[in-house]
Amino acid sequence: MLLEHAYLNVPYYRNLFKEIGAKPEDIRDFNDFKLIPIITKDIIRKNFEDLMALNLSKDEFLPNSTGGSDGEPLNFYQDRQFENWAAAARIRGWYNIAGCEDGDSCAVLWGAMRDVKEDYSLIERVQIFFRDGLIPINAFNLSNERMLLFLKYCQLLRPKLLRGYVTAIRELAAFIEEYKLNFPPLKGVILCAETVDPDVQVYIERILNAPAYNTYGGRELSLIAMECSERNLHEVSENNYIEFEKIDLTGYQEAGNIIVTNLNNYAMPFIRYRIGDIGIPGSVDCCNCGRGLPVIDKIIGRTTEVFVFYDGTKSVGEMFIHLMKDFDIKEYQFVQVSDAKVVLRIKTEDYINEPLKKKIQFTYKKFLPENVKLEFERVDAFNKTVTGKFRFVYRNCPS
Ligand SMILES: [Zn+2]
Repeated sequence: MLLEHAYLNVPYYRNLFKEIGAKPEDIRDFNDFKLIPIITKDIIRKNFEDLMALNLSKDEFLPNSTGGSDGEPLNFYQDRQFENWAAAARIRGWYNIAGCEDGDSCAVLWGAMRDVKEDYSLIERVQIFFRDGLIPINAFNLSNERMLLFLKYCQLLRPKLLRGYVTAIRELAAFIEEYKLNFPPLKGVILCAETVDPDVQVYIERILNAPAYNTYGGRELSLIAMECSERNLHEVSENNYIEFEKIDLTGYQEAGNIIVTNLNNYAMPFIRYRIGDIGIPGSVDCCNCGRGLPVIDKIIGRTTEVFVFYDGTKSVGEMFIHLMKDFDIKEYQFVQVSDAKVVLRIKTEDYINEPLKKKIQFTYKKFLPENVKLEFERVDAFNKTVTGKFRFVYRNCPS
């Protein structure tokens, strides 16, 4: 149905079908589906107008955008049908999964300025709480004072859920642990927007004394996957059809670029869209939770979290994080700045001495191509993405 609509009403897809010499009725199964060329953020930017459906009225086009890990935002339109399905997926993945109902109270650690303001007046807070059941705090600026205030609100309003960026929730958990504070009893913690390190997930569960559920999504596609109580990441198949485009990644034979087709947005269809993340398809056929939805084994991370070196070697960000566990540095950032240089950024207050630098260099040398240099940089604050997400590892040079 989506293909037929795209062919009949969306100029970009009409031309695309012409180019590949096919019509929607020629696409009969998922193998045929692979004939449709993949769409990328770049293609969307260049063909913006041609991707808009001609048969929908103006008020069906709801503007939205995503920050994009490359820093360049992507604008797009979604329709009401998309929004309704997205809302349903959020209720299931953000509330039902933890045994809660839509509208149950939820404390939110979020960064995107269009969703969460820098700060709120007391009146605004009361309004947001009674209207949406939310207790928000901006994840951009998590000073001790602000976290303490947030905890006070939570003590007072007793949210059933806590949802937010993984690193922001980890920061809050570390703050609670350090000052021996308490978070009121929760039914669950919903982890969003960043790749989840299993150790961090366990830590958050221990400090907040509640199960933490991983989720995976994007503004352009809504919720793509949600974790169940059996620790399986289920695809949200009602909203998105997922494929894995095979890539050559050392140590990860099954890994692939995640390709998503959103099934509900007719205003601006994204068919076979390369979202910019790498994942591993799941091998589980049926899950003990009873859901028949397909399972993703693992989200490895953004494609910009894979370092590509001069000799073609690709190193996954996860490896850099894993090796750092041997050193007592909680916060750091690995940035690839050229095809033969990686910089490890460490905050001034955590900065390390020469022997430890040598030790770190020695550890990483074994896993990097011979001529790749690892250097150190002392910083006052870490770089975050435009929406306030923290990245432990990112590539800041062309691949
Ligand atoms: Zn399950």
